[in-house]
Amino acid sequence: PVRVRFAPSPTGPLHIGGVRTALYNYLLARKLGGTMILRIEDTDQNRFVPGAEDYIRESLEWVGIELDESPWKGGPHAPYRQSERKPMYRAYADQLIRDGYAYYAFDTPEELDVMRERLQAAKVPNPQYNSITRAQMRNSLTLPEDETQALLDAGAPYVIRLKVPRKEEIRFQDMIRGWVVVHSSAVDDKVLMKSDGMPTYHLANIVDDHLMDISHVIRGEEWLPSAPLHVLLYRYLGWEKTMPQFAHLPLLLKPDGTGKLSKRDGDRLGFPVFALEWRGTDAETGEPTVSRGYREEGYLPEALVNFLAFLGWNPGTAQEIFSMQELVEAFTIERVSKSPAKFDQAKIKWFNEHYLRAKSNVELAPYLLTALAEHGITCSPEKAEQVVGVMKERVSFPQDFWQEAKYFFEAPTEYDQAVVSKKWNPQVSAALVAYAEALPADSEPSANAEVLKSIFNDTTAAQGLKPGQVLQALRVAVTGAGAGPDLFETLAILGTGEVSGRLRAASE
Ligand code: GLU
Repeated sequence: PVRVRFAPSPTGPLHIGGVRTALYNYLLARKLGGTMILRIEDTDQNRFVPGAEDYIRESLEWVGIELDESPWKGGPHAPYRQSERKPMYRAYADQLIRDGYAYYAFDTPEELDVMRERLQAAKVPNPQYNSITRAQMRNSLTLPEDETQALLDAGAPYVIRLKVPRKEEIRFQDMIRGWVVVHSSAVDDKVLMKSDGMPTYHLANIVDDHLMDISHVIRGEEWLPSAPLHVLLYRYLGWEKTMPQFAHLPLLLKPDGTGKLSKRDGDRLGFPVFALEWRGTDAETGEPTVSRGYREEGYLPEALVNFLAFLGWNPGTAQEIFSMQELVEAFTIERVSKSPAKFDQAKIKWFNEHYLRAKSNVELAPYLLTALAEHGITCSPEKAEQVVGVMKERVSFPQDFWQEAKYFFEAPTEYDQAVVSKKWNPQVSAALVAYAEALPADSEPSANAEVLKSIFNDTTAAQGLKPGQVLQALRVAVTGAGAGPDLFETLAILGTGEVSGRLRAASE
């Protein structure tokens, strides 16, 4: 069975790259009729950030990624928080020691510092605790057995490290990258169990993926360097036959391609890198911080999903618009690229406009009604629907409805001066007053856009003017703006009473 997992660490807001990882896992699970699992990887208590778990949950809910098993929903492999699974890991570390694949290390932080300094002084590029250096360190592979036992009996602090072989090629097949081959000398003797009895990410991740029957590990490229170590762990624990298939997703780059998109880039580059706004505190100053979120900026979840799907994947056709369901049908890991994907801000706005315009007036009206209520303006749902109907081709975000369509609810107090100076003159003003007088009363049911237009053509002609000489002045007199949606539709929504009042006010 296909069982995939998204395994975030609650160390802060979920980065947009994490949302993409969750999305690809979800698409594969749904496509293959599998199970989508969320596991919270919180073994590093020092990096734990309160609120981060709720934030992860809310982000996934907002974008529409449903979880079949999770800390909140439970499931056959509960608990789904590693901190609650703590007692389960020890036995596997002990098994590795027993089988000669791991060892106790008693080095103090000072001793480790000395080793690192020595290696640095010798210009060793990546100072590591490995098969060579461990020969000089204080661990159960170098100490006599009775000394090790005495230290353990005395309760001396220790960690458990993986015994990485000296000269071995570690190979595995990645679904996106093909064969990955890493020499064991590039892998250090990673700590598996910390002195406080907590497993590290590496041990907990492998044990849980095994116990939770995970079939595919789909995660960001930043975990590729850890994969050889994970392969060794599967082998040494005797689980190689059921090892999940790996797929390491391509990096997300800044829009200009100059490196990885980081959590801090949002503020620097002027766009959100989080699905939802995050309120945190600055690690250095302790001041409250706000990181921008796509939701709060008026992006629709459908737009974010469509955008993220294309950051590293493409369907191989020209189609760009995909609903979640269409993505499920089209998605394959084989079509995920290994080259990094650039984060293209203009593209997500384009998706947003598409999804906004695809919504019905009934769906969009509440955005406007909410903004109106905030400004103390009452409006019937019918009128709100008409307004969003004429405005939706002209806006990118739901909050624009109020910004761009204010004049449907408030007479203008200012007029676009560029239009006024070019188009306004006594003759035009007289034509507008004549138009105001010719308009039927509000109660007249036949005052639709067409009727309003033909009355306009008649009154303008009677004044000896062509429509083109008066149209822009009419718009600016009624709306204050030089541009907007279809003018006579606009007038029809406003109603003839309101229009003639505004025309008279403008002509005074
Ligand atoms: N806890 C890791 C993270 O925060 C999970 C990596 C993995 O999927 O193995 O990304």
